[in-house]
Amino acid sequence: MTPSELLHHRPARDELRERVILVTGAGDGIGRAVALALAAHGATVVLSGRTIRKLEATHDEILAADGTRPSIAPLNLESALASDYDTLAAAVEKNYGRLDGLLHNAALLGQLSPIDHYDVPTWVRVLHVNVTAAFALTQVCLPLLHRSPDASVLFTSSSVGRRGRALWGAYAVSKFAVEGLAQVLADETSSSAIRVNCINPVRARTAMRLQAYPAEDPSTLPDPAALVGPYLYLLGPASRGVSGQSFDCF
Ligand code: NDP
Repeated sequence: MTPSELLHHRPARDELRERVILVTGAGDGIGRAVALALAAHGATVVLSGRTIRKLEATHDEILAADGTRPSIAPLNLESALASDYDTLAAAVEKNYGRLDGLLHNAALLGQLSPIDHYDVPTWVRVLHVNVTAAFALTQVCLPLLHRSPDASVLFTSSSVGRRGRALWGAYAVSKFAVEGLAQVLADETSSSAIRVNCINPVRARTAMRLQAYPAEDPSTLPDPAALVGPYLYLLGPASRGVSGQSFDCF
């Protein structure tokens, strides 16, 4: 698959039918847009995130658009205990019996600051939410992913996760780690039906982008809905056999 094929993939209306896909950070930004698009193409989406009000809004938007009925699985990745991860996985198992997709989308930006002034507690929080929590969630979901005939795990990277840039501190380091986690998991699952990839949305009009670039004119940025094609491709059946790769949305 070429990057152009990835970008121009136009999924059929029901291409993701009968796929159960968990999305973190599904209440806002890119996660919300991808969740809406997945449900519009037939997937049953498990909407995860920390703000229940936002998850309920995404849930209601999916139903209002005649999307496949989703479910809500609140999980604060900053404070979740092992038992919270187990509870989430048990709920997915009880309701669906398996998982066909897992999108690690939720993340924290932290602060933009040089390393010599970087706040240590913020560093720990960013690494925890962006990397350790994604590892922990993946670990509890692996038995469910192994029950799928064709499961896709998709991690969210960033341009600064490929080449470090001044001031991006813990966020950049966390995205390098996410790329590494995806490569290790892809290798470990290479003889199974699970594939593992990374996606870099590059740029989209979201709260995080505004926080990172406060002087930028938001009207010059693509709406998150414009990015969903590559996500649907990588989470859906069309990318079967593609693993261990890292893609850009633009
Ligand atoms: P947003 O800030 O709009 O959304 C981030 C999501 O993560 C929100 O739903 C937020 O929940 C959730 N989240 C944050 N902290 C936690 C937590 N502790 N527990 C659970 N959920 C949490 O950001 P984007 O949509 O822009 O970012 C989505 C992904 O894309 C991120 O991984 C980001 O790094 C990546 N990315 C984005 C780019 C862009 O231009 N927008 C560019 C490159 C990468 P809540 O709404 O409740 O706060």
